[in-house]
Amino acid sequence: MRYLYIVGALGSIGMQTLDIVRENPNEFKVVGISVGRNLELAKTVIEEFKPEIVCYRTKDKPSLSYNPIEVYGDDGLKEIANYSRYEDEVFVNALVGISGLIPTVEAIKSLKTICLANKETLVVAGDIIKSLIKEYNVPLVPIDSEHSAIAQCLTGEKHNEIKRLIITASGGSFRNRTREELVGVTKVDALKHPNWSMGSKITIDSATMMNKGFEVIEAHYLFDMPYEKIDTILHKESIVHSMVEYNDGSIKAHLGVSDMHNPISYALRYPHHAKQEIKSLDLFGLTLHFEELSQERFPCLSYAYMAAKKGGIYYAVLNAANEAAVSLFLNDKIEFLDIEKIIYSEIVKDEYSLIEYNLDNVIKVSYEIMERIIRKYGD
Ligand code: NDP
Ligand code: MG
Repeated sequence: MRYLYIVGALGSIGMQTLDIVRENPNEFKVVGISVGRNLELAKTVIEEFKPEIVCYRTKDKPSLSYNPIEVYGDDGLKEIANYSRYEDEVFVNALVGISGLIPTVEAIKSLKTICLANKETLVVAGDIIKSLIKEYNVPLVPIDSEHSAIAQCLTGEKHNEIKRLIITASGGSFRNRTREELVGVTKVDALKHPNWSMGSKITIDSATMMNKGFEVIEAHYLFDMPYEKIDTILHKESIVHSMVEYNDGSIKAHLGVSDMHNPISYALRYPHHAKQEIKSLDLFGLTLHFEELSQERFPCLSYAYMAAKKGGIYYAVLNAANEAAVSLFLNDKIEFLDIEKIIYSEIVKDEYSLIEYNLDNVIKVSYEIMERIIRKYGD
């Protein structure tokens, strides 16, 4: 039995994780969850899974048939990460944004296996997380489909035989539009992802291609790969979830349906596959296309490489500017194309290079940037 703590349990990844638990009660038990603002859903989920500890986002909570330990807000997320009662504990981080960072840090220190969907954790603090993982000797397992695919392609292979990682990108909601056609696009259109059903922030990140930039950074940290050896490629079908090319020219690819249940299942059971089928792919009739992913068309991807080149605190600057801009766009305060302008205006600033890269500064700088940007455009 693996004992699960799921933060962000009511979101897209959180609910799909719960689907897997529901179908496999002999393998998984939910011990702790954090719920968001949807209290009706929170009640249903808590009553079904009966976790020992629940973190509410605010002081509002539903009435329940039993009394779990109740904790609240950011401190509550830390308490869930620190709560420890069982042998084989897994912390599934399905929060969105930098709010996922401290819970990941605490869960590492409490020696839980980390199943990471919250990509912002590795984007803003990849070096810090990697050294903590080493120090506490806990597994860090990706949930993101591309990294799950790469991890599977790397099984049994030698690091020095890898030529490059090839991360595939669907292109997001506006992949068939030119840059001129992006003027005035709406939130409703941006939220219509052609292949995946996901939370709103990552759906916008996919439309701007910042999501792919984040995934390049994640891959750099997860697989110890220099940026020169990480390529991205446009693959509209989202069937090949990513690839690894070896020095001899052979390429291993991972194929599957566009459904996050598969990578979540693999992460929860890593390094084993489920005994039964999760969602299988019908190979007949498949046609696969691969095209260059242009950084001129998708400048946010180039901004991620820029931030990576500058390194240190610039990862946090990149993420904070993006997080604030996406939230402004989702709240109808700015246009879609303003997102990339806001990010660029932050990462070109030289003054951030004076700030030392450590956990406290990552958090401080992130919240300062987000608050300043939201204040500037928010009214
Ligand atoms: P969602 O927006 O669907 O869910 C996020 C959940 O976290 C929500 O329930 C939200 O609560 C809760 N939450 C967010 N911030 C806080 C906070 N500060 N305190 C407490 N709860 C909070 O996101 P996704 O599931 O789509 O994504 C989660 C992460 O996984 C992201 O980092 C994303 O990039 C990554 N990811 C997602 C994929 C997907 O298919 N969805 C694929 C690969 C990666 P509330 O309901 O109150 O807003
Ligand atoms: Mg992905």
